[in-house]
Parts: sequence; structure tokens; C-alpha cells
Amino acid sequence: MTLNVKIDEIRTKFLKQLKDAKTSKEIEKLKVFYLGKKGSLQDLMQFLKTATSEERPLFGKKINDLKIEITSHLENTLKRLLLDEENIKLKSENIDITLPGRRHFWGRYHPVTLMMNNMIDVLVSMGFSVETGPDIDSDFYNFEGLNFSKDHPARDMQDTFYISDDLLLRTHTSNVQVRTMEKFKPPIRAIAPGKCFRNETISARSHVFFHQIELFYIDENVSFSDLFSTMDEFLTKLFKKEVKTRFRPSYFPFVEPGMECDVECFICSGQGCRVCKDSGWLEVFGAGMIHPEVLKSGGIDPEKYSGYAAGIGVERLAMLLYGINDIRYFTQNDLRFLKQFNL
Ligand SMILES: [Zn+2]
Repeated sequence: MTLNVKIDEIRTKFLKQLKDAKTSKEIEKLKVFYLGKKGSLQDLMQFLKTATSEERPLFGKKINDLKIEITSHLENTLKRLLLDEENIKLKSENIDITLPGRRHFWGRYHPVTLMMNNMIDVLVSMGFSVETGPDIDSDFYNFEGLNFSKDHPARDMQDTFYISDDLLLRTHTSNVQVRTMEKFKPPIRAIAPGKCFRNETISARSHVFFHQIELFYIDENVSFSDLFSTMDEFLTKLFKKEVKTRFRPSYFPFVEPGMECDVECFICSGQGCRVCKDSGWLEVFGAGMIHPEVLKSGGIDPEKYSGYAAGIGVERLAMLLYGINDIRYFTQNDLRFLKQFNL
């Protein structure tokens, strides 16, 4: 086969492939196929080897002309295809600025979280540190260590979800008390915020799932009046106004003496309503002086130290603050309800 025939053959094949190429990638492939180190034009070099010295310059020129021709075709086509591709891409990314924007919804805190954070802020500002404990705890930390012996009738006051004989869903965040005493030496001034669970009938006033902040202070010579003044300051700071409270003697196994603190019902201003069961007062927390047996459970000498403790219901206080008359709203996930709390 002569060089001319071979050159014609390559050119014909190339022009056909060039015509068929639809993308810049295909052009790049053609470039490698014809002009690459192992490309078709390189094959033509064998004609130079066998050519006579007169033929050689002519052959070289012919091969070079073909190379220039192919290169020029490839460059032009590549330019055109790249431009086309760019236009297609721009068209597909076209932004219609007349379209209405997408609306983004702001997330917000659940009212219980808001209330709990407010309470924690106030108590931390009063010198309390935040301690936590597990939602699922042993009988010891939830009951036994808090002076509820196995057959103590007071266990019936808190209907409990048991997981096994020894494990339960904590009925109060008081389970953090003994844990904290094991960790630190007095003076201890701590709060324990968290979830609590009780196997109770769900009503406007009570729920199986609620939140509590346990608060306790242990040091030498802690007295009942320390408890009163602390709680008064706490409620005044929290509600940002004077709050009417009353304290009644009550019984909890882990305190001695024990009491309950009532706040005047904000919903009916003491007139009586469904939430306060027509009494005009709402029980917001139980409190008292920590029982010596509880201090002993935590390895603290009750002869030397004394302390007070209070368990404050978060939902109860949120209901007071926001004028909510049914505790069930908190867990119904009704956006109309939840959206109102925008603090
Ligand atoms: Zn009321």
C-alpha cells in the first residue's frame, strides 16, 4: 500500500468519525486515537523508514500536512462542542427570579424546655450546680437509698414502671441525690433536672411522663428557714414578681420534716378552677429537711451535716406561667399549641 492511499484511508475514516462525534469527550478520544504516541499518524512513520532519500522530504511533508489538517479539524470541532455544552448547562441552571421563595420554618423550644431552662438559669445564678442521673435506675437510688424500704407503704404513693425486680423508670429526679453525695463532699448545692415516669391515670393535672428539678443543699447547720428563703427567692426570680405561697406539712419518706409548697393559682387568681380543683392553690413542689437515713445512704454523717431538698414539677410551673389548663397539651404535639411559646 502506498503512502498516498494510506493517507486517504486515514483521512476518510477520520472525517467520518469527526462527523459522528457529538461531545467534547469524543473529540478528546479522537485526538488520542490519531495524534497520540500510539496513534494512526505514528503508524505512517514506517513509510519514512523504507523511503528513499529523495522520497523522504515529500513523505514527511505529506504526513505533516495530514497532522495539521486533523489538528485543525479537532480544535474547531472541540471549540464548537464546548460552547454548545456550556450553553446547555447554563440553560439547565437557569434561575427564574420571578418564582416565589421557599418558606423556611423556624424551630423553637418546647414550652417544657423553655420552662426548665428558665428554672435552671435562676437556680444556677443562686449558686446551684447541675447534676444528672439515669432515667432508668436501680431500686436503691430511686427508693431504698431515699429511705423507702422494700415494704414501705409510701412506695404506693408513686406508682412505678418496673423493668425488672431491681430496675425501674425513675419516679423522681431525687435518684440523683445519693449519686451526688457519693461523688462530692459537703457543702453540696446541686440541682437535678430531668424526666420522670409514673404509672398514673392521665388527666388534666397528672401524666405518666413529666419533668422535675430536684434541688438540694447539704452543709453544716442547714435549717428549715434556709429552705423557705431559698424557695421564696427562686419563685420571685422565676416569675419576676411577688408570688403568693403557702407551706403545709406533708409526708415524704426522704425528708423529715416534710412539707408541700402551694402557689396561688394564676389561672383563676385563687377563685377556683378545673386545674386547681377549685381550691385556688396549686401544689408546685414537695420539700423538707433531708432524712438522716438518706444522708447515711450517701455516706454523709447526719450528726455533722444537715440539708434540705425540694422536687419541683416543671410542667406544673409552666402551666402557671403560661396559663395552661391541661397538662396533656405538652405531649400532644399540636403545632397550634407549641407555636405560641416564642420566648
Ligand atoms: Zn385555679
